[in-house]
Amino acid sequence: MTAALACTALSPAWPAHADNYSGATGSTGCDGGLNEADNATHTFHYVDLAEHNENATTWARANILNPTAVNTVYDSTLDDLTDVVVRDQRYDDYCGHDWMTPGNSGVVGLASCDDDNSANECERHTVRYNINFTAGTTTANRRGLACHELGHTLGLAHRTSSTSCMQQGYPKPALAYSTHDRDHLNDNY
Ligand SMILES: [Zn+2]
Repeated sequence: MTAALACTALSPAWPAHADNYSGATGSTGCDGGLNEADNATHTFHYVDLAEHNENATTWARANILNPTAVNTVYDSTLDDLTDVVVRDQRYDDYCGHDWMTPGNSGVVGLASCDDDNSANECERHTVRYNINFTAGTTTANRRGLACHELGHTLGLAHRTSSTSCMQQGYPKPALAYSTHDRDHLNDNY
C-alpha cells in the first residue's frame, strides 16, 4: 500500500497531517483523494450500488454531511454537475492494491479525485466501496465507511481522534466527524 492512498485499511496508510485538512493538493488518480471540493453543493450520483451501500451513503449524507455547511443532493444523471460518483464492486487488485483481504491488510474503500480545476479543487471525486467488506459487515461499519470516504471527498484526512470516523480501522469510534473535522468543513464551505 502506498503512503498516499486515501483508503480505510486497518494499517496506517496516511502520514499524520497537522490539522486533518488537506486543502487543495491537485492530486488525481488512484492515490489522490484528498482535494477539497469545488463548492458547498455536493452532488452525488450512485452507479448501481448494492442496496446496503446505497443505504449507508444516503444515511451519511443526511446525518453527517448535511448538518454541516455542506449540502448534498442526488442527481440520477451523471453529468458535469456530478461531484461524487459512488461505485461498489468486489474489487480484487484495483489501482494495484489488495482488496481481497479487507479489514486485514486490504483496502475496504477508496476516494479519489478524478478531475481537479485550476485552483486544484476537485470537480469530481469517485468513491469506491469494497463489497468483499461491505457485504459481510455490520450496518454501523458500512455507515462508518461512508462517513470516512465522503469525508475524503471534502478534503478531510485521517485522524486518530476517538470522536471521528476519519480514524482508520473498524469499528469506527464514532459515526460522526469530530468538532475539529466539522470546523474545517464549516470554515471552507
Ligand atoms: Zn481513508
